Amino acid sequence: MLDGLQEGLQEGLKRDLAMKHMINRLESFKEWPFQSDCNCTPLSMAEAGLYHCPTDTSPDLVRCFVCGLELDWWDPADIPWEEHAKFTEGCPWIAKKLSEKMGTKKMLMAMMEICTFILKRWANVLLDKQQEYRQFVREKIEREVLKMKKK
Ligand SMILES: [Zn+2]
Repeated sequence: MLDGLQEGLQEGLKRDLAMKHMINRLESFKEWPFQSDCNCTPLSMAEAGLYHCPTDTSPDLVRCFVCGLELDWWDPADIPWEEHAKFTEGCPWIAKKLSEKMGTKKMLMAMMEICTFILKRWANVLLDKQQEYRQFVREKIEREVLKMKKK
């Protein structure tokens, strides 16, 4: 159970880290329904830190590579930047955008903060899953003990 889980988590972390490159985010929008003449073009989506990760049930699903926020049901009039800011809880990508005129050194610091944020987020996911797994094992043991007591 934990093996497959860890693999899944590693994949997710790897993907998010790869998406810190603008070009990778842009490339994810090849099948994006709103290519031009609207607010949520691939370029403005990618600039807002988002990448396209469509599923069967939600073909316009996007995710922020930093905070992991997922958004769908896009309207051509939506401004990616504002949508991201509206629904996230303290995404550092938003903070970076808000201080646009930072020097190179500050930009590097902000980028490091962003990478740390991604790692922490995935570490938390892993901890949650481990806790779930421990609970699962504990309950299993308790059931076995109960069974043995009944015998
Ligand atoms: Zn975000």
